[in-house]
Amino acid sequence: MAAEVRPRLTVLSGPSGVGKSTVVAHMRKVHPEVWLSVSATTRKPRPGERDGVQYFFVSDDEFDKLVANGELLEWAEFAGNRYGTPRQAVLDRLRAGEPVLLEIDLQGARQVKESLPDSRLVFLAPPSWEELVRRLTGRGTESAEVIERRLEAAKVELAAESEFDTTLVNTSVEDVARELLALVAVA
Ligand code: ADP
Ligand code: 5GP
Repeated sequence: MAAEVRPRLTVLSGPSGVGKSTVVAHMRKVHPEVWLSVSATTRKPRPGERDGVQYFFVSDDEFDKLVANGELLEWAEFAGNRYGTPRQAVLDRLRAGEPVLLEIDLQGARQVKESLPDSRLVFLAPPSWEELVRRLTGRGTESAEVIERRLEAAKVELAAESEFDTTLVNTSVEDVARELLALVAVA
């Protein structure tokens, strides 16, 4: 009997500021063929972010409609904004046998594991709490109040690390990008 080929869905999570976007961007610069789901969000774009590239930036009403129409595979509220994964694009890729990468928060990771139990959950951890604070603050994209909310969420996320299948510590972007590629690409 031929071995069943299971397309893999990999979920990358970790506290805000740990370096998820940086690691994924580095990996995709080297391997542009790795497909990353583009989420919908009610958050306002940061300077340089473009609609349809980093996110689909939508209004509250539009997000309500995506939820009501069952168009999201998962969604969550994070630090005052809503974020969700468009379902169809992910399912199309999986059906075509292509690996799928989601970069989403802890609540979303739990929902994906529930609906697609074969998914692999990868936790990106900071080298230390102090370094996480330094990175989040140093990015300079959020107000002090938003940074505070994100650090509160980070405590909850760090406490949930054992729910993940694998932990990668983001000390070197190059090393972690290589490790992540191996997890995403190997069936
Ligand atoms: P996330 O997507 O997890 O919120 P970002 O990718 O935006 O985090 O990274 C947050 C900040 O940390 C950015 O300023 C980024 O340049 C920096 N950063 C990311 N990875 C590293 C690393 N390995 N060492 C030092 N700084 C890093
Ligand atoms: P940011 O505002 O920094 O881009 O993202 C904030 C948090 O939302 C990050 O932890 C990021 O992984 C998460 N996030 C991004 N897209 C999604 C999504 O589609 N679903 C969920 N649940 N979280 C998401």
